[in-house]
Amino acid sequence: KTSDVIEHFSLDNELFGVGTAPNEEILSIENASNCIENKVESLKIGASIHKHIRQYIRPHLKPGLKLSTLANLIEDKCMEMTKEQGILKGIGFPSSLSVDDCAAHFTPSKLYDVTLNKDSILKVDFGVQVNGWIIDSAFTIAFNDKYSELLKAVKAATYTGIKNAGVDVNIKEWGKDIQEVMESYEVNLDGETYPVQVIQNLGGHNILKNKIHGGTFLPGAHISYYPDNLRFQEGVYAVETFGSTKSNWVEERKNENTIYMNKAFSTSKLAKDKNLSNFYAKLLKKYSTMPYCNRYLDLDYESKQYIPRMNKLIEKQVVSAYPPLHCKNGGMTAQYEHTIYLGDNFGVPNKIVLSESTDY
Ligand code: MN
Ligand code: MN
Repeated sequence: KTSDVIEHFSLDNELFGVGTAPNEEILSIENASNCIENKVESLKIGASIHKHIRQYIRPHLKPGLKLSTLANLIEDKCMEMTKEQGILKGIGFPSSLSVDDCAAHFTPSKLYDVTLNKDSILKVDFGVQVNGWIIDSAFTIAFNDKYSELLKAVKAATYTGIKNAGVDVNIKEWGKDIQEVMESYEVNLDGETYPVQVIQNLGGHNILKNKIHGGTFLPGAHISYYPDNLRFQEGVYAVETFGSTKSNWVEERKNENTIYMNKAFSTSKLAKDKNLSNFYAKLLKKYSTMPYCNRYLDLDYESKQYIPRMNKLIEKQVVSAYPPLHCKNGGMTAQYEHTIYLGDNFGVPNKIVLSESTDY
């Protein structure tokens, strides 16, 4: 049985400090209202905004940067460019800014923040939502070029997945090919050689309207218990892979920042506790099916007030928690991710790598 972690699914760049910034036309958000029912057009607008935000944050990615500053740069720009439309005002999900052995799901808050140093390896994973359609794309940045082979390995693996994806392609076989590519690399760190390993319990996923994880897990490795007959269908997919120098598995680190998602769509389980029920009603109204985090709750509540309540909601299985995911045996990690559209136009396969640009 796949672990709960697989329910998540979570970038790159050999840009050691500088890199080519995407310089593309920004599709107008004003056009979004003309394409309410057109997911591909909505995704194209979201992708052009994603690329623009990458270009905007690039000069800030330096040692000394605080992750809360970066999250605000990303999300404020996103709200501005999407004109605050949608449940999270155009934000696809809380910016996942995971450092070193943390692969995914760290997002800063008042209580937990991180400042980058010259040896940090940062995964920048953020989302843009237009008309309910989410672009999910990520890259890795390191300031020290000793990580360059790790970044190359993961980028090559993700691009292998993108190249091989298509309607009717068998997903289990697809994962196996990704692993072969990633694991053909090795990294030399401080005199030691490490073969790159795929993190097997993280991977891609399909994307549905207002739902970042649509229920299909896309493995980046051969997983023996993965269903034999699952195939790609017409739709939107986030193709992502994670590599590590020492681990093939991640585990949750609780009691740090957590990303949340509402699970119950009424307050009926909370009838006995009026305060908690009222609190949850507000969360349901504000976030609906979209993920949120302590940093957002920091704006409305004192941490002493909301943390115990959130813990109770998790305990009662009303809310799901997605804590930061760290390498089980340590090691450094990298990630690259693109959102793609797979279609079949009267027998002619159609693939659009929506979030791809000149940076990655
Ligand atoms: Mn992502
Ligand atoms: Mn993802």
